[in-house]
Amino acid sequence: MTRVPERVPVLVVGGGPSGLAAAIELGRRGIEVLVVEPRTALDPLRPRAKTTSVRTMEHLRRWGIADRLRAVAPLPVGHAQDVVFVTGLFGHEITRFENAFGLWTEPRDIAAESGQQAPQPLVEEVLREAAAALPTVTLLVGWRVVSVLDGPEGAQAVVEDPAEEPHRITADYLLGCDGSGGVTRSAIGARYEGSSGTVPNLSVTFRSRALEERPLCTLGVHYWVIGAERGGLMGRLDLDGTWWAIVQGVDARTEDVDPVALVRTLAGADIDVEVLATDPWSARMLLVDRYRGDRVFLVGDAAHLNPPWGGHGFNTCVGDAVNLGWKLAAVLQGWAPPSLLDSYEAERRPVAQRTIGAAGSQEAFLAPSFADVDLDDDGTAGQLLRGDLAHRLDVKDAEFHSLGLVLGYDYPDSPVVVPDGRPVPEPSLTTYTPSAHPGARLPHAWLADGTSVYDRLGDGFTLLRLDTQVDVGAWAAAAEVAGIPLAVVDLPELRALHGADLVLVRPDQHVAWRGSAVDQPHTLLRTVVGGADVVAPIPHPLEEIRR
Ligand SMILES: Cc1cc2nc3c(=O)[nH]c(=O)nc-3n(C[C@H](O)[C@H](O)[C@H](O)COP(=O)(O)OP(=O)(O)OC[C@H]3O[C@@H](n4cnc5c(N)ncnc54)[C@H](O)[C@@H]3O)c2cc1C
Repeated sequence: MTRVPERVPVLVVGGGPSGLAAAIELGRRGIEVLVVEPRTALDPLRPRAKTTSVRTMEHLRRWGIADRLRAVAPLPVGHAQDVVFVTGLFGHEITRFENAFGLWTEPRDIAAESGQQAPQPLVEEVLREAAAALPTVTLLVGWRVVSVLDGPEGAQAVVEDPAEEPHRITADYLLGCDGSGGVTRSAIGARYEGSSGTVPNLSVTFRSRALEERPLCTLGVHYWVIGAERGGLMGRLDLDGTWWAIVQGVDARTEDVDPVALVRTLAGADIDVEVLATDPWSARMLLVDRYRGDRVFLVGDAAHLNPPWGGHGFNTCVGDAVNLGWKLAAVLQGWAPPSLLDSYEAERRPVAQRTIGAAGSQEAFLAPSFADVDLDDDGTAGQLLRGDLAHRLDVKDAEFHSLGLVLGYDYPDSPVVVPDGRPVPEPSLTTYTPSAHPGARLPHAWLADGTSVYDRLGDGFTLLRLDTQVDVGAWAAAAEVAGIPLAVVDLPELRALHGADLVLVRPDQHVAWRGSAVDQPHTLLRTVVGGADVVAPIPHPLEEIRR
């Protein structure tokens, strides 16, 4: 029987995208993490998220696994980058949104990576491998947490092994990464608030040879079908005949539906269809009333749910895990006080709120709302209708071109960010305007040797010295006294981009402060790690159950 320790520094409840990302972020920073996940196998037939955003790819790059994901992803970015609206796969193209979801084939200045389409189980597989490879991370697969009790000194969990034997574990900190149906949210008395979509959906995973062998009316990475009878989305999962579809406005829970017929209706032809899986679901726009208890934090879907329109859900989860990960590591390593952890909710809740708003607003513009019986007409009438609809579909732009949200999210009001009072770009869902204002993601830049500026940052804080005349000796000394890991990197070529002599960058690549010389770097450093006096680290070895 596997022996589990009585006490661990961090217990992660749930090994989905949030839990695995948190484990990697913490584990890479030398923190021992125990992850409890009931699913022994990842179900390839229920792909869920397909969009790994530009920002998530940048995190994967930092973890050294971006190339790994690209290598195993069955749809290379080069295959297709556009979302196309069609009357059917063999019908007429209505309009297209180019380079959707940050899919581009040549490097761009604004980001270190392009987006990537990959089914979620495959992304989870890559994350599982990366987590398991870390000596600090232990995955208990096939186990589940049955109860959580929060407290000021730690959180207690009862964990069941595969034989349903209970084990008690106390954790200094417990991360509830157990999705919408887990146990952690209710254990800390947090509640989802919000609403549900009114249009029911049916996801279908299927295989069809015809869709590979017969020429489609156009090439896209996702196809939005505005059909006379049915509407929805479709896309390839691989280049070997496996597809996904979401049929909108079909209630498989109350109607007798035939998924084969539905897929044929979307395709617009009597093709061969082998259904592999079906899932009925409704969109939900939900956000918890609070992200934490004492020693328990909610991460990812456990804290917020948004419709898949725009492909933000899983990416927002990874963003949460990254944000909390470095902070928790700093607290456990003793170079930040526990008050740093209050900034997690302060920073991430507004991002979730904005994401829910953006994805939720697209509920008003689902495929059935654009249906017209004559849209597929081959003659002039059909052509005019499609031309008119192409204009009306401009309302979908923010769903496919959302770099303002994906790269432009920021934390300007955070208690651990020092504002500089200078103007910041107007918030925009669609347009990303690079800006090094405090709280923003450090603007990306390619350096002369072809590396990304992100590749130069340290694992802890980084002081970018953009004017090499500035003496940073006091910074290094203050960081050493406070025990804060600080790398100093000279990059005078980025002075114009960042608009300051010095930029202090956090471990999550966000700007904590920018300016010229300061008298008291010690005070500033204390502010960006939570302000109060630091505590000593608490070691808790997990050797006993490490694989
Ligand atoms: C149809 C659909 C399409 C989507 N498309 C996209 C997209 O294109 N892009 C995108 O970014 N997102 C998308 N999403 C959303 C995405 O799937 C979720 O946001 C993401 O899976 C959430 O990750 P998570 O780790 O927070 O939660 P989950 O993925 O739900 O993982 C929670 C984990 O906790 C485990 N667990 C549950 N209870 C316990 C317990 N008691 N003890 C221990 N472990 C437990 C579960 O087994 C699970 O592994 C889509 C979702 C759906 C339904």
